[in-house]
Amino acid sequence: MSQRKNVPKATSTQLIHHCYEPPAGFKSVVPGIHKASTVIFENTAALRARQWKDKTGYTYGLHGTPSTFTLEERLATLEGGLQTLLTPSGLAAIAMVDMALLSAGDEVLIPDNAYGPNKDLARAELAHWGVTHRFYDPLRADDLAALITPKTKLVWLEAAGSVTLEFPDLIGLLRVARQHSHVVVALDNTWGAGLAFDAFAFDNVDGQAQGADISVHALTKYPSGGADVLMGSITTRTESLHLKLKMTHMRMGLGVGGNDVEAILRGLPTLPLRYAAQDAAARQIAQWWTTRSEVSQVLNPALPGSPGHAHWAQLCRAAAGLVSVVFDQRYGAAHIDAFIDALNLFKIGYSWGGPVSLAVPYHLQAMRALGEVPQGTLVRLAIGLEDPQDLIADLEQALMALKG
Ligand SMILES: *Cc1c(COP(=O)(O)O)cnc(C)c1O
Repeated sequence: MSQRKNVPKATSTQLIHHCYEPPAGFKSVVPGIHKASTVIFENTAALRARQWKDKTGYTYGLHGTPSTFTLEERLATLEGGLQTLLTPSGLAAIAMVDMALLSAGDEVLIPDNAYGPNKDLARAELAHWGVTHRFYDPLRADDLAALITPKTKLVWLEAAGSVTLEFPDLIGLLRVARQHSHVVVALDNTWGAGLAFDAFAFDNVDGQAQGADISVHALTKYPSGGADVLMGSITTRTESLHLKLKMTHMRMGLGVGGNDVEAILRGLPTLPLRYAAQDAAARQIAQWWTTRSEVSQVLNPALPGSPGHAHWAQLCRAAAGLVSVVFDQRYGAAHIDAFIDALNLFKIGYSWGGPVSLAVPYHLQAMRALGEVPQGTLVRLAIGLEDPQDLIADLEQALMALKG
C-alpha cells in the first residue's frame, strides 16, 4: 500500500486525486449543495448493501442526493404530506402521476378549467395508450358524480382553475370521489402553493381530516419565485402510494439538476412573504378593475362575486397573485392586443410567481366546453413584486390604447 502511495502521479491525476481534505464542521445558514451522477462507495460490499428507496443511503444521482432529499423533505412539510418526489417541471409531475396510475382501459376525469397541457396530455398520449378521459364542470360536484364509473382510476382537482380562476367546490368534489374506493384523487396545488389551504386536510369528516391523495406542485411558480427555474413536485401522504410513484419516477429517469435544487431551496424561506405580498397586490388590483367600465368580469377567488368565491372563503387563508379580466364585447382582439402591447411594467409572457408582472390574452371559446365560460377576450395578469400603485398606473395608461 505505502509503495503505491509513493508512485509519482501526473498533474492531471493529482488534479483529481488530491490528498487535501477540508476540515469537518463547516456550518452555514444554507444547506450545502451536493451534485452527483456517480456516488462513490467505500467497497463492493457497501455498493451491494446500499438502499435508496427509503432515503437511508445514496446509490446514484438519479436516486437522490443530500440536496434533493433536503428539498423533498421541506416540500413534504410545506404541503402537509409524508413524502415528495421532484420532477424536471410541473407538467412532468402531472404526466408522471398519469403514467404511474393509469393503464389501458382506465379513465381519468379532469376539470374543464384545468391547466391546458394536462388536458392535452389526456387527448394525445393517454388516448394513444388506451386511457380514456372526460372533462367535468369543476363548480358542480354532481357533474363529477355522474361521470365516475368502475373504469375511473384517477380524478384530477385544480383550485383555482387555470386562467379563469373559478374556485371549485373542492369539498363536494372530494366527497364524491371518496365514495369510490378505486379512485385516486390528485390535486394540482400550484395556485395554493401549500399556503392557501391544506392539500391533504381541507375537509373534515367525523373529526378526521380529509384531502387529496396526491398534491402536484409546479415549483416553477411560487417556490422558485425567480422566473428562472423549471421544477415540479409530487407529494403523497401514504407510503404505499409514494412507493408506487417512486418506482415509476425511477424507471422513467426523471432527475433534477443540483443548481435548480439550490435555486428552489433558496426561494423557499421567502415563499410565504412573497405569496402574501402578491396576494395583497392582486386583491388591490382586482378591486381597482371593478371600477373600470372596459371589463365585464373580474376574476380573483378572493373577490366577492368571482365564480366560486364562497367555496374559496370556506377553506382558504390566501388567494395567490393572479387576476383575470374579461373585456367587454365591444372590444375586439385587436383592441386588447393594443392594450397589452401598451403596458410597460407588465411584460408579455407565460407563468407566474416571479418578480415581474405578466399579461397574457386568452380566447376561452377554444379552451373550454363546460360551465358558464365568459364571453369575450380574457387577459390574465400575474402580479409580481412591483409596487401595486405603479402597476395600477401602468394598467390605467395602457387602457388609453383601447380607445385610441
Ligand atoms: C405552470 C403550471 C403547471 C406546469 O408547470 P411547469 O413547470 O411550467 O411545467 C402545472 N399546473 C399549473 C396550475 C401551472 O400553473
